[in-house]
Amino acid sequence: MFESLSDRLSGILDKLTKRGALSEADVSEAMREVRRALIEADVALPVVRSFTDKVRNRAVGHEVLKSITPGQQVVKIVHDQLVEMLGSEAKPIDLDAPAPVCIMMVGLQGSGKTTTTAKIARRLATRDKLKVLMASLDTRRPAAQEQLKVLGEQNEIETLPIIAGQSPVQIANRAMTAARLGGFDVVVLDTAGRTHIDEPLMVEMAEIRQSANPHEILLVADALTGQDAVNLATAFDERVGITGIVLTRMDGDGRGGAALSMRAVTGKPIKLIGTGEKADALEDFHPSRIADRILGMGDIVSLVEKAAREIDAEKAAKMAAKLKKGSFDLEDLAEQLKQMEKLGGMSGIMGMMPGVGKMKKQMDAAGIDDRVIKRQVAIIQSMTPAERRKPDILKASRKKRIAAGSGVDVAAVNRLLKMHRQMADMMKQMGQGKGLFGKLMGGM
Ligand code: GDP
Repeated sequence: MFESLSDRLSGILDKLTKRGALSEADVSEAMREVRRALIEADVALPVVRSFTDKVRNRAVGHEVLKSITPGQQVVKIVHDQLVEMLGSEAKPIDLDAPAPVCIMMVGLQGSGKTTTTAKIARRLATRDKLKVLMASLDTRRPAAQEQLKVLGEQNEIETLPIIAGQSPVQIANRAMTAARLGGFDVVVLDTAGRTHIDEPLMVEMAEIRQSANPHEILLVADALTGQDAVNLATAFDERVGITGIVLTRMDGDGRGGAALSMRAVTGKPIKLIGTGEKADALEDFHPSRIADRILGMGDIVSLVEKAAREIDAEKAAKMAAKLKKGSFDLEDLAEQLKQMEKLGGMSGIMGMMPGVGKMKKQMDAAGIDDRVIKRQVAIIQSMTPAERRKPDILKASRKKRIAAGSGVDVAAVNRLLKMHRQMADMMKQMGQGKGLFGKLMGGM
């Protein structure tokens, strides 16, 4: 997400913060570079212009350039302006209406509309404990209604029974009636898409809107289509009226411009982003966190939230107790590595850490990637329980056996053992209140 833009902007801003004093010309020069970076990231031109103008005007102010840390002040201004451009506040789905609340999903074919319908329904059902009904109004593509039904079964969300021959409006009415009678909290309507916007599609959407009276109309747009996604949002808003946007394929290596200009051009908030094909790959869109990511400041808040969701609290507590006693065996190391994988592996975690863009490149160059964790787990799994508890017994012949069993060479086994030894030592010191951690705690 935003990798190349993030690299560019961090580079430009790094140069500014390294200098003690800044002149107006320095700021102007930096803004020219920022403008180029944003245009290359496919951000709409008027949005770029307004952005750099605002930053420049605030940055050349007396108190900024004369301050002790002018570079950092400029970075803060860029950050604040980015947040503003992205919509300032996070705007979650609004369900503040009498039940059943209707959410209507609109968008082009292939944008991820059906997948997103299921993702939203799943999240409302599992996280918010709501009773959710999904219905597909796509009567043009015979497989579409079936696709939603399958997604419903996979995610344990009820779908409206399919009746052949009904019109989209008839299905919408039936869904709302079924939801009322069945005591559902929310109905998510997945509408038909087209390969491009055309008149019949717009008429159909307007009719559904009229009869189902949705509280939210969410446009699903593919972030990889850049400017086209922004134009699409404008067109849908003019004809059907939308209340928010879901940008899908934010996991792809698109240039990110759609996400950056969407709000400024359409005035409609990005509410959610799709970050993968799986049913749980849906995230809230937080302007400040996205700005942090773009500026290479990381997104620790999201990482911690993800950790809270994914990590088993009981296991974590057990691990903490073991660490206190100073025992950290290979079994524990394997557990830690598996937790890392759950958080999205090395790249998933690194992508959310501050200043990691540069480090990640070095890691890529050194051949360290997500497979490393898998390989390390495989090495540990090739050991006997006794070896995992007491790695000291691992001599040459055992190491050879483990290497063969996990498809690596003996050097890789040695590296893993060394890493474990270092971690165990560090943890022992922490546990006994020696080491840096202990000193810090003692000093407080
Ligand atoms: P629809 O025609 O708009 O209903 O699109 P679908 O929901 O059928 O999605 C089309 C394809 O895009 C499917 O293969 C999805 O798995 C995939 N997809 C949807 N959302 C995302 C996303 O956020 N990231 C990625 N990588 N793929 C997605």
